Amino acid sequence: MAMRPLIDGFGRRVSYVRLSVTDRCDFRCSYCMPLDMAFLPKRDVLTLEELDQIASAFVARGVNRIRLTGGEPLVRKGFLELVQGLSRHIGAGLDELTLTTNGSQLVRFAEGLFAAGVRRVNVSLDTLDPALFRQITRKGDLAPVLEGIAAAKAAGLRVKLNMVALKGLNEDEIPEMMAWAAEQGFDLTFIETMPLGLIEEDRTDRYLPLSEVRRGLEARLTLHDLSERTGGPARYVRVAETGQKLGFITPLTHNFCESCNRVRVTATGTLFMCLGQEDRVELRDLLRTGGPAALDAALDTAMRLKPKGHDFQIERRDADPAVGRHMSMTGG
Ligand code: SAM
Ligand code: SF4
Repeated sequence: MAMRPLIDGFGRRVSYVRLSVTDRCDFRCSYCMPLDMAFLPKRDVLTLEELDQIASAFVARGVNRIRLTGGEPLVRKGFLELVQGLSRHIGAGLDELTLTTNGSQLVRFAEGLFAAGVRRVNVSLDTLDPALFRQITRKGDLAPVLEGIAAAKAAGLRVKLNMVALKGLNEDEIPEMMAWAAEQGFDLTFIETMPLGLIEEDRTDRYLPLSEVRRGLEARLTLHDLSERTGGPARYVRVAETGQKLGFITPLTHNFCESCNRVRVTATGTLFMCLGQEDRVELRDLLRTGGPAALDAALDTAMRLKPKGHDFQIERRDADPAVGRHMSMTGG
């Protein structure tokens, strides 16, 4: 039977899925979740088998890139077994199986991930200063993360660093992070904070527009825009002086929605068609009661419901977050 691609009501083809394997995390990054974050009861979370079935249903409909995320994916029990199972699709529909991690457990996992066919990892690293690292993550230590990144590199994984730009916290560290990433051979992407889920502080206090970061860099460097597009909010530049590639993720702009190629599945099996909207389809109970056929039909429903674009706004001080769920829930 011919493959039936996932095409939404605006003619956009969905080829990329972010699948959250847990909402739990060993860190409590201040922009991401509150210190006393309440995690879901285990029974609500998809089993490893269900995660595999959902990922496989997407691959059967032409999805060729899957990113596993969370929460922290490496704290999910059985994570490596899940990756090993899904690796059967690599080269057989799937071009890339990858993950986003905080790096705290990478030392243990790097070699196994490479052996299972993973070739790239995104590691979130907002600072190289141990004290600031603790302040931002509130529970994390920098040293094991740096060891994890080194282990990933040694195992043959390509590493991309994600740094959330935070006003008054790590903004002065951007040149140092760029120099370190270049020395290590890592790509580096800056991320703007997004209004997702309630946290203790007002995000406007830490919001640092990447347009400002870019202007700062352009005062001393030449940045050439690259045409490379991922179907998401990332835009890339090449630094003429060093050859380094930098990414800028500005989800509050709308300039990427028209080419959006992605959907996200939470750890409980809720399929969100847009990071910034509430439109959803619940996959878990459908799968539990109706099996693979019900799951496949649900993907068609989702395509009819995928919204045209998001509705983020961070400028309004004291406003509720545009979207009530946290990034750790939707899967960053
Ligand atoms: N725990 C893993 C990690 O930190 O890489 C994966 C999940 S985390 C939710 C994915 C990414 O989302 C991280 O790079 C994190 O910095 C980013 N993130 C979390 N909350 C965010 C927010 N409100 N705005 C922007 N980025 C956010
Ligand atoms: Fe955990 Fe990642 Fe959220 Fe930090 S950003 S609290 S590491 S899920």
